[in-house]
Amino acid sequence: MTTKRAYIETYGCQMNISDTELMHGILGEHGYASAETPEEADVILVNTCAIRDHAEQRVIGRIGQLQQYRGGERNVLVGVTGCMAQRMGSDLLDRSGGVDLVMGPDGYRKLPETLRSLWKEDEPKVEAPVAPAAPPARSSGLSGGLTVLDFDPLENYEGVRARRTSAVSAWVPIQRGCNHRCTYCIVPYVRGGEKNRDAREVLDEVRALAEDGIPEVTLLGQTVNSYVAGDWDFPRLLRAVARVDGIRRVRFTSPHPNDFSRELVEVMATEPHVCDQLHLPVQSGHDRTLKRMLRRYTVDAFHEKVAWVREAIPHIALSTDIIVGFPGETDEEYEATLDLMREVRFDDAFLYKYSLRDGTPATRLPEDQFVPGEVAQARLERLIELHREIQKEINVAQVGKVEEVLVERPARRGGLQGRTDGNKVVVFEGPASLIGGFERVRLTSTTGATFAGERCSIDEVARVA
Ligand code: SF4
Repeated sequence: MTTKRAYIETYGCQMNISDTELMHGILGEHGYASAETPEEADVILVNTCAIRDHAEQRVIGRIGQLQQYRGGERNVLVGVTGCMAQRMGSDLLDRSGGVDLVMGPDGYRKLPETLRSLWKEDEPKVEAPVAPAAPPARSSGLSGGLTVLDFDPLENYEGVRARRTSAVSAWVPIQRGCNHRCTYCIVPYVRGGEKNRDAREVLDEVRALAEDGIPEVTLLGQTVNSYVAGDWDFPRLLRAVARVDGIRRVRFTSPHPNDFSRELVEVMATEPHVCDQLHLPVQSGHDRTLKRMLRRYTVDAFHEKVAWVREAIPHIALSTDIIVGFPGETDEEYEATLDLMREVRFDDAFLYKYSLRDGTPATRLPEDQFVPGEVAQARLERLIELHREIQKEINVAQVGKVEEVLVERPARRGGLQGRTDGNKVVVFEGPASLIGGFERVRLTSTTGATFAGERCSIDEVARVA
């Protein structure tokens, strides 16, 4: 039998990128190779995001394009996985020409046997060493496709060895799902409640990554700092990961402001391998909006946490997420978000217009409170402009500095691309042999968001060190 090849296209957040690596790992255990393009694949999976309507529409369009590969001599299968698969379920089976498989985030262990049943292969089932017996996939009865959408409150993918796409930096999920119910957010409904991995398993995985020569890990979770497993909490786990031999950089995303503790700040400040960077989503700069979003903190409480971390790590690079145009957001509430941006001065910010998600509590807010699209768009544009101004001022002040850069990949327009400890992108000239290593790079200019740099000479490195 020839080796089957799987192509997985990923949309959405880091958790989805990590899930794609997990699916490649599960399929790899069953003899699948990874395909670089859909043309060469026997199974094409689109791993999707449900956070915004726009992302879903893109996926629907993409499914239509992928029809050209479906079926044929090799009976190529096309499937949809991830949050949008969970949200739309069997409705997806017949969209845009149809798909063969719809599978939610808790179903990935069943991928090999589900594909086998779709191909109607009757060779003896190979039990993956990583996979406990999985219940059979349930058929929707539509189009001959299958849906696998059950939540599994215990599924943490323990024991699965992800197939990594980067030899430089690795995502390490420590938690799946979320116990919060922010009123705009679909995540708890498509990924279920919070499930935390065993700390020893996480540490074993990080040690294995270090042995493979990967110097940087990012711990992942929907509210990563609410992690608790037995007598391990997040600060303890972060410290232990930062002390694994061979790991030189540890990041984590995304923490929830409510679980952001003094103890965590202390670990960040005292463990040299924890990066001086923090992504702390604020979402709005006004208490009334935060309340309607059910974020469960106030603007003052957020400022207090920022003050803790800035006091302990004055040069910390801060980033955030903000949603504008949330139902009921008044001009005054929006202006308060601009004020918060001016006050905190984030190094980076991910800024969005509110996107209505069916099934989330915010859809039940009175219709007359919904902010008109053009107003939300204008608010977003003004916020982006303000953010860019602030970001440029911060980054211009950093030109001339020497930074240690982890070299990640060839840059798109020539040269190499890497990141500083503060997670800032730097492009500079150098041979490809530097990829995977650390270089001292002087920041020579900035576009506002990213930097150009030049490698320091050996003399300069000695002086800086
Ligand atoms: S904390 Fe809120 S925004 Fe984040 S995943 Fe959970 S419900 Fe969604």
